[in-house]
Amino acid sequence: MPKNNDSAFSKPLLTWFKQHGRHDLPWQQPRNAYRVWLSEIMLQQTQVQTVIPYFERFIKEFPNLQALAKASQDEVLHQWTGLGYYARARNLHKTAQLIVEQHNAEFPQDYDDILALPGIGPSTAAAILAQAFDQPHAILDGNVKRVLTRFYAISGWPGKKKIETQLWDIARQHTPDHSATDYTQAIMDLGATVCTRSKPGCKTCPISPHCSAHKQGNPCDYPTPKKRASLPVRKTTMLLLQNTKGEILLQQRPAQGIWGNLWSLPELDKTENINQISQQHYACKVETSTRLTPFRHTFSHFHLDIQPIHCRVSTHTQCVMDSGSQVWYKCDPADKRGLPGPIKKLLEATLEKKP
Ligand code: SF4
Repeated sequence: MPKNNDSAFSKPLLTWFKQHGRHDLPWQQPRNAYRVWLSEIMLQQTQVQTVIPYFERFIKEFPNLQALAKASQDEVLHQWTGLGYYARARNLHKTAQLIVEQHNAEFPQDYDDILALPGIGPSTAAAILAQAFDQPHAILDGNVKRVLTRFYAISGWPGKKKIETQLWDIARQHTPDHSATDYTQAIMDLGATVCTRSKPGCKTCPISPHCSAHKQGNPCDYPTPKKRASLPVRKTTMLLLQNTKGEILLQQRPAQGIWGNLWSLPELDKTENINQISQQHYACKVETSTRLTPFRHTFSHFHLDIQPIHCRVSTHTQCVMDSGSQVWYKCDPADKRGLPGPIKKLLEATLEKKP
């Protein structure tokens, strides 16, 4: 298909966008590379409505690239608490520091320079250039994949190399040389608000006259889902060791692996004994222990079944003091450390209860 011969796709989409697109998202006003980049990273794997309050808090705390670069990783993870996929926050922080060091604190405007930054893939690099600098680069995020696979009735999981290459080609063909900012937002908005996963609004869709899946009457058959085996289940026991001051012991997790560098609860395996572990590792004597309601947290590649145990403890005189990797924690707004979402909820529920 020749580029820009697009009366079936980009033209009606741009016309539709003027009236029906989203023009007042917080990162659009004011729009600059820092805000666009931040929103694009937050929007990976996360819906707009969830992202908005996080974006607003984050931008208040770190209003510009320099402020983010200067912050500690803990402060950044703290602002990310509950948003999940914490590698995004660690990469965001690293990227801010790299831009300050290598690009004189100016967000780069070259595709390859942006792609070289941590946590930025081809679609995110293109979205930043299109949204912040009006450069005509094609994007291919989840929403765009859904629209294109339906419009062309393309079968096969879009994560497959062959399908992905085909979709990139089509995405490039449709990206106009002008109005890159609007076009990029328009196709994302169409996917998010009209061509939705389970209830596509074909009746109000500006590109329905040429949409193959609509003509076939089966839009929900696209995109083809990934064949996945059921997720494995892992189990863990977590200790809420609460001292006489009402504080709870937290440990910083290793940098690598799930919840990297976040603050979480001590864990126990099946063979370990609560009293022994508490004495040996945390210098605490368990006075009482209560099993709390177990719950499941699902990661992208496994379920984690968590059994929390709440222990009232007394601490030894030579007790573990706040150290680099352990801390007695009380929900204090001034305490800016990164917590995994489910752990934060558990702590809040426990600390709300009277000692
Ligand atoms: S016509 Fe329906 S299936 Fe096709 S792009 Fe529009 S909303 Fe999606």
